[in-house]
Amino acid sequence: MSDRRKFLKNSAIGLTGLAAGSVALEELIHSSGKKNPKKFPLVLSTWNFGLKANEEAWKILSAGGRAIDAVEQGVRLVEADPDERSVGYGGRPDRDGRVTLDACIMDENMNIGSVACLEHIKHPISVARAVMEKTPHVMLVGDGALQFALEKGFQKENLLTEASEKEWKEWLKTAKYQPVVNIENHDTIGMVAMDTSGNLSGACTTSGMAFKMHGRVGDSPIIGAGLYVDNEVGAVTATGHGEEVIRIAGCHLVVELMRQGMSPEKACKTAVERVCRKQKHRINEVQVGFIAISSKGEYGAYCIHPGFNYAVRTNERNSLIESKSIL
Ligand code: ASP
Repeated sequence: MSDRRKFLKNSAIGLTGLAAGSVALEELIHSSGKKNPKKFPLVLSTWNFGLKANEEAWKILSAGGRAIDAVEQGVRLVEADPDERSVGYGGRPDRDGRVTLDACIMDENMNIGSVACLEHIKHPISVARAVMEKTPHVMLVGDGALQFALEKGFQKENLLTEASEKEWKEWLKTAKYQPVVNIENHDTIGMVAMDTSGNLSGACTTSGMAFKMHGRVGDSPIIGAGLYVDNEVGAVTATGHGEEVIRIAGCHLVVELMRQGMSPEKACKTAVERVCRKQKHRINEVQVGFIAISSKGEYGAYCIHPGFNYAVRTNERNSLIESKSIL
């Protein structure tokens, strides 16, 4: 066979292979993430303050808005509330008396943005969104995050309220760092939502563990730990002792378990069981909770110790649900 004929034959095989490959790719694109339109929209968020955050998010979702806008606006409400002492303005400080905030956000197209150890800015979630939309990066920390926020027009404020300062001064008397399960010396607002187009997004924001070491960063601003969204599979966020969530790459793990066919509840439970197995010697001190939505509009949650609750807003109602627990 001449070289030219060999070339033509090989090219033909190559083209057939490519065509078959394209069909497979097409199928892959169109088979993934089948949605159930009856269940949209839907929003879930962690703890009691999830109820009011859900209502804020619902204003956007019920008007046909995007999930990414809903989760940002929903958690902003909690960030701005000085009486919520584990998130944003009024959050408890670190052991040096500094309020340092962690937040991240993720949309349906795998766009991500995050800030960690950010001081003086009331809405870290919106700075995280600006990182996502206005920089070539995905995460800014500390002074760099503050510098960026100020450049983008965010206002510099004192976030340490009188109440939080008083509590910190009281803590200094013994200066013992001992996070307690389900006591509000932590508690993050994590929110995941599905919009009327069936798209998923999530947001997570916190002041972290009260009286942590200065510079400590928890799971909440870490994509894959405190939050993960894959529009084909589901959206997951976490609360509890961040070190333990990071150790198992928690939210990414839950998404991958759902990808293998588990329901949101089963996937959350399996991830929580992993924490329990790895931390069995100190399980009394450790709380971790996950909440999840699947791309089909199913939802669920699981935690280690009883006492973790989450809010679910559907077309019918906004309700607070006690999460099932391992113990
Ligand atoms: N996960 C947060 C952190 O470790 C705290 C919490 O959600 O309770 O900073």
